[in-house]
Amino acid sequence: MSYQLDRMVKVSELVQGSVKEQMTQFYRECVDCEKCTARKEAKAPTVGIGNTDAEILIVGRNPGKQEDSKGIPFVGPGGELLTNWLGWVGLEFSQLYITNMVKCYTTSDRPPTDPEIITCAQTWLSREMQILPNVKLVLAMGDQVCVCLTGHKQAEVRSTVQRRYLGGKELSIIACIHPGAPLHSAKSMPNFKNDAYFTRSVILNHPQLSKSIKLSSNVAFFT
Ligand code: SF4
Repeated sequence: MSYQLDRMVKVSELVQGSVKEQMTQFYRECVDCEKCTARKEAKAPTVGIGNTDAEILIVGRNPGKQEDSKGIPFVGPGGELLTNWLGWVGLEFSQLYITNMVKCYTTSDRPPTDPEIITCAQTWLSREMQILPNVKLVLAMGDQVCVCLTGHKQAEVRSTVQRRYLGGKELSIIACIHPGAPLHSAKSMPNFKNDAYFTRSVILNHPQLSKSIKLSSNVAFFT
C-alpha cells in the first residue's frame, strides 16, 4: 500500500530537549498545521493525549465530529466503547498515550485519502512516535491504521503481533477492530471483544512489557 509508514519516513532530525519540551513544541506546531486538504473540514487538528511515559500507544484513524469539537481523541460513543474495551484488556487510560493517524476531522467521517494519510502520518504520527520514549506496543485501531503501520490489511494480520521499525524504534503492533465499528455493525462486536482478549494475552507475555505493565486482574470478560 502506498501509505505504509515505514516505507515513507526518514527518521528525521528530532527536536532537541526533554520529552516535555519536545511534546510542547509538537503540540504548538501541529495545531497550526494546514498541510493537507482535511484541514478545511476540521475545526482544528486534534492532537494526542495521555501519559508520555506510556509503553502502549493507541492509534485511531482520525477524529470524529465530537472529537473535533472537543479537541480530544476518542470521546463520544466510540470513546465509551474504547473504555469498555480497555476494561476487558485490564488497562487504564493512565497507562496509555492515545492519538490518531490523521489529526483532522473529515466530513461525515469519510475515510482519509491516501495523500492525507501520507502527509499527516509522515509529518505528525511518526514524530509522535519518535518523541514518546518508552513505547513498545502499538494498538492499531482500524483497517487504514493497520495498513499505515504494517503494510497489511487488518484481516491479514489480526491476532498476530507484527514487528515494524517506526519512529526510530522497533515496535510490536497489534491490529484491532476500531471502537467505532461495532457502533455501525453489531457483527463486528465478537471480533472487537476477541481483540481485547488477544491484546491482554500479548501484554501478559510480551518480553518487554510483562514486568512493567500491570493489568487489572478484575476483568469481567465480555459483559
Ligand atoms: S490532517 Fe494532519 S497534515 Fe492534514 S492539515 Fe490536519 S494536521 Fe495537518
